[in-house]
Amino acid sequence: METVLNIQNVTKYYGPLKALDNVSFDVPEKSVFGILGPNGSGKTTMLSIILDVLKATNGTYLWFGKPSTHEDRKQIGSLLETPNFYHYLSAYNNLKITQSISGRGSEDEIAEVLKKVKLHERQHSKFNSYSLGMKQRLAIAAALLGSPKVLVLDEPTNGLDPVGIAEIRELILELRNNGHTIIIASHLLDEVEKVCTHVAILKTGHLLTSGPVEEVLIDDDIVELGALNLNKLAEILKLIAKNVSIDSKQQMVNITIPKGSAKLEELNQYCFDHGVVLNHLVIKKKRLETKFFELTNN
Ligand code: ADP
Ligand code: MG
Repeated sequence: METVLNIQNVTKYYGPLKALDNVSFDVPEKSVFGILGPNGSGKTTMLSIILDVLKATNGTYLWFGKPSTHEDRKQIGSLLETPNFYHYLSAYNNLKITQSISGRGSEDEIAEVLKKVKLHERQHSKFNSYSLGMKQRLAIAAALLGSPKVLVLDEPTNGLDPVGIAEIRELILELRNNGHTIIIASHLLDEVEKVCTHVAILKTGHLLTSGPVEEVLIDDDIVELGALNLNKLAEILKLIAKNVSIDSKQQMVNITIPKGSAKLEELNQYCFDHGVVLNHLVIKKKRLETKFFELTNN
């Protein structure tokens, strides 16, 4: 698969503050690439650099295998900050203005991008009558003008309610199916997990890990066990497993074991032999959120 963006040893200082420290990773064509990390980890700084809004202190990046030119940049649609739309104008007229100022796409495309983000039925309503989710989708529509190969979105679900978040997620999946490569920065791991094919995880400017989601995130399985006496269950599991934790809300004990090595019959027998009768025993894949928490907390 071709590389759309290649980031090499990017470092960024703001005065004495090191916001990015020697970060390198590749974004493959047609991926949904999540740049993940808590607030302040350097995500927006990285996006600003690759979009030529900020200059890196050190390091380079290549779009489509070469230093970016004005022409190449037309292949990249971005949503870095919420654009300033005119509140009293309709979605359609707002995009007409965006289109003529940016020179991206043509006027004929406006109806098409509004359809893509499912705003065509409301295209003649005033911007200030829109919900936050609709405003955000209009911003994505603006980024889609000129049908760029790549979309760069900074925290596209920020401030949205669950319905709005689900709409953006669906939109991202559709765009991916249409062949776009999508780069998303987000601190909302749970949401990103559902759409990303690849991730890079940042913490205070350091790259912790990057690669395909299934490689980065799932190197352990979690086994959930339940019994009447959770404390005793945890006690005996501590003798044979690592990361034994009691989830008192769910009334369960979780343990992690290397991927593919959990033998439920043996575990069940072991607990029984040690005087604990299980009422629940399930293997779960480790979730991105769990992994992210582990990565960013040590
Ligand atoms: P994120 O998008 O992951 O929340 P940012 O890239 O916005 O992170 O910020 C990374 C770090 O750089 C933070 O410590 C932030 O306070 C700092 N920072 C960001 N922009 C500036 C700036 N213009 N001047 C000084 N420090 C900044
Ligand atoms: Mg940010």
